[in-house]
Amino acid sequence: MNSMTQLAAIGVFQDQFGREKRKLRISVTDRCNFKCVYCMPEHPEWMKKHDLLSFEALYHFCEFMVRQGIEQIRITGGEPLMRQGVVHFIEQLQSLKKMGLKRVSMTTNGHYLKQYADALKQAGLDDLNISLDSLDADQFQRLTKKQFHTVLEGIQAAQDVGFNIKINTVLMKGMNEDQIIPLVQWAKQQKLELRFIEFMPLDGDQNWSQADVITEQEILSQLSSQFTVQVLEGQGANPARSYRVDGSVVGVISTISNSFCGECDRLRLNAQGEFYNCLFAKQGLKLKPDIQQLAQDYQHASVHLKSKLMTYIWHKEQGFQTIQQQVLQPIRKISMHMIGG
Ligand code: SAM
Ligand code: SF4
Repeated sequence: MNSMTQLAAIGVFQDQFGREKRKLRISVTDRCNFKCVYCMPEHPEWMKKHDLLSFEALYHFCEFMVRQGIEQIRITGGEPLMRQGVVHFIEQLQSLKKMGLKRVSMTTNGHYLKQYADALKQAGLDDLNISLDSLDADQFQRLTKKQFHTVLEGIQAAQDVGFNIKINTVLMKGMNEDQIIPLVQWAKQQKLELRFIEFMPLDGDQNWSQADVITEQEILSQLSSQFTVQVLEGQGANPARSYRVDGSVVGVISTISNSFCGECDRLRLNAQGEFYNCLFAKQGLKLKPDIQQLAQDYQHASVHLKSKLMTYIWHKEQGFQTIQQQVLQPIRKISMHMIGG
């Protein structure tokens, strides 16, 4: 038996570099009510509603993946709260906790949280990542084309019902680097964990340029000018490197300058059933028919699906830097709103 076959017997997906897959991100829609400059194209062509996987099919897929060792599922988008039925889906996923699922999380722009925070808590959602790129209302509007106060109200609503929250901030040169210090101070005051994300080449109109990236080093040098900054050990498979800044934890996701791929344990599925072994994968796997088949004949369909996935996951590249060296920009025409961050 080779090592791929041995793992199949155990049931945990693993790639050629020995990285076991424990986290699954599911994008439930590509639609979004925001138009973040680093994400959404000027003229998005939305996926057709009839091309999306139903929540029933997604549930069966999640069950299958949990049986293969997935321990954490993150619901993302587009804006996940724009898809009707997502709260009920999260409630359904709770039944997978007896099979080994440990956490169900969501990444959201926060706009609808005032309306949904309570229902999400009741449904059993474990934690939330909320995007917030600026504390300046005009700058926020320029970055997202939306109102900032709605997001602040959403964050408050999520805090009120007791959610564990991380704030995600994408930094872009000439846009919001002046927010690094204010956001750290605000997050400390709010008792929220903040994570800065380097701008990645996954914007819908492919305008990304290295010159627009605010690197981890630049972030740290701004922080050090005001605060005592101490690196925290033990990043593991966490995409963010953590620092203690002025007594609070601040994370930096530095995909571009110092990528975190070494222990990557993540897999991704988009809303129409395309599966990616990496955010930057050159090619996905179209799994919609296979996933739909799970609902008809789980036993048969799961054997077939497992062998397809084993091969594809096994061939996951080493990481962003390796993929980057193989192809010229852009890596592939896919924007973050179609796959989910
Ligand atoms: N709409 C939700 C939100 O904004 O949180 C979920 C989907 S969004 C695609 C997921 C995460 O990806 C967000 O934290 C967003 O800031 C981040 N993101 C989007 N485009 C990005 C890019 N080009 N580089 C880095 N992060 C990006
Ligand atoms: Fe929408 Fe999130 Fe993309 Fe912003 S980052 S446009 S909120 S999907």
